[in-house]
Amino acid sequence: MRNLEVIIGLEIHAQMNTKTKMFCGCDNNAWNKKPNTTVCEICMGHPGTLPVPNREAIGKAARAALALDCTVASDCHFDRKHYFYPDLPMGFQISQYDFPLASKGYVDYDLPEGFPSPHGRGHGEGNRCRIHHLHLENDAGKLTHVGGKTLCDFNRAGTPLMEIVTEPDLRSAVEAVAFAQELRSILVTIGASEADMFKGMMRFDASISLREKGIEKLNPRSEIKNLNSFKALERALTYEEERLRKLWEESGGPLKGNITVGWLDDTGCTRVLREKEDAQDYRYFPEPDIPPLTFSAKEIENVRASLPHLPRMQRKSYLIHGLDTSQAQILLDEPKLRSIFDAVLDYTKDAHKTSGIVLTQLLGAMQKHGKAMKDLPHPDSILDLLDLVASGAISSNAAKRVIEDMVKTGKPAGEIVEEHGLTQIADSRELQDIVASAIAANPNAVLSFKKGKTQALGAIVGWVMKETGGKVDPARVSEMLQKGIS
Ligand SMILES: [Zn+2]
Repeated sequence: MRNLEVIIGLEIHAQMNTKTKMFCGCDNNAWNKKPNTTVCEICMGHPGTLPVPNREAIGKAARAALALDCTVASDCHFDRKHYFYPDLPMGFQISQYDFPLASKGYVDYDLPEGFPSPHGRGHGEGNRCRIHHLHLENDAGKLTHVGGKTLCDFNRAGTPLMEIVTEPDLRSAVEAVAFAQELRSILVTIGASEADMFKGMMRFDASISLREKGIEKLNPRSEIKNLNSFKALERALTYEEERLRKLWEESGGPLKGNITVGWLDDTGCTRVLREKEDAQDYRYFPEPDIPPLTFSAKEIENVRASLPHLPRMQRKSYLIHGLDTSQAQILLDEPKLRSIFDAVLDYTKDAHKTSGIVLTQLLGAMQKHGKAMKDLPHPDSILDLLDLVASGAISSNAAKRVIEDMVKTGKPAGEIVEEHGLTQIADSRELQDIVASAIAANPNAVLSFKKGKTQALGAIVGWVMKETGGKVDPARVSEMLQKGIS
C-alpha cells in the first residue's frame, strides 16, 4: 500500500441576501413564490435588454472578501461565461474570470474534538485554508424533472452569487466540512448571505485528488458538483477518496485527466458525468454591457471598518463567558438570536442567567411553537421584560410565561402582563394576609418545619405560589413565612 495523501479544494457558491437580483430590479426573495413570478426581461435574457449591476451585492461581496482577509482589487470587471443549459436564458452567465473582485485570503478554522487530521494538524491546532479568489456572478434558474418532462422556473435566475474558490489546502473530508462551516458562519455574521443550506443558498463543488506523500506536483482531480449540505460534502468526499485509492491500486497511478462527477445522495456514490471543461471551453470574454468596477482605498477601508467581530473571536469570548461550543455555535449561526443574547448579557452582566433566558426559555418557546428565527422578538422587547422583573412588577416565574406568550402572539411584554394580570403582589399588608392563611392552611408542614425539616418550608411556599397564580416573589414569601412561623 502506497503512502498517499488526499488533496481537497472547494468552490463555494453563496447566494447573497440582497433586496433585488444581480442585474435587474426583480425581487431576490423567491422562496415559496409561484414559479416564474419574480422575473423580468433582463433576467429572462430577452434580446436588447441591458444589465445594471446591483450596488448592494457588490458592497456585500466586498465585505465578505475583507472578512476572508482577501485583497479587494482596485478595479475588476465582469466576463461572459458561455455554456448552454436550459435554465440559463441568455446562453451565457455574467461572471468574473481573470480579474475577480478579490483574491489571496484565508480562513482559520478548528477541527472538531477527536478528529486529528492525517497530516498531523488536530483539534485546536489552528488550521488554515487559503482562499484563491472571490468573484461575483448571477445564478441560473431551476429545473424540476417530473414524469419524463422538465419544468423550468426562472425565479432564481439572476440571484447574486459569490463564488469563493479555495487553494487545495484541505487534507480530509472532516477538514473540508470544518472549513465550510466556519466559512458559513463568517458569511452569516457579516450579513452577506443567509447561507441557508436547506434552501440551497450555499452549495459546494469539491475537487479531490491523491498524490504520493513528499511529492509536490498535483495530480488530475475529480470534481464533485453541486453538494448542498455539509453531510453530502462529507459523504461524497469520503466515498470519492476511497474510489480514487482503489483506482490507484488497480491502475498503479492517479487519474489520467480531470473529471467531473455527480453525487447520488440516495445510493451514496458518485457517477462520472464528463471530462472536466477547461477555461477555453467557456469562451470567456469581457462583458461589453457593464463598465469596469472600481474601488478607492478609502471605500475599501470604510468597508473594513464596518465589519463586526468575526466568528472565531466571538466564539472565544462566548467560551470565556462559560458557554459550551454548541451553545456558542447556535449564536454564531443565528444572528438575530445573537443580537438578543448580546443585549441581555449587556443588561444582566451574567452569562449563566442570560443563557437561561435566551437559550433555554426563549429558544425553547420558539421551538415549542414552531417559530422560525426571523420571527424572534426585537431585543428591546426582551429588555422591557427584564425591566419589569428588575422593578419587582412581575416575578421571574411570570417572566417565563410572558416570554412564551411573546413568541406565540408577538405582543409586547407590558400588554401581556396587563392582559393576564401577572403583576406581582408587592403590597406588604396583602402579602402578610396571604402568609397568615398559608400557615393556617398547612399545619402539618408548619409542624415539620418547627421540628427542623427545612424542606417543609418549600411546600408552603409552593402552596402560596399556587394560590396566587405565581404572582408573588418566592424569596420574599419564604422569608416572611420563616418569621411568621417562629
Ligand atoms: Zn429580473
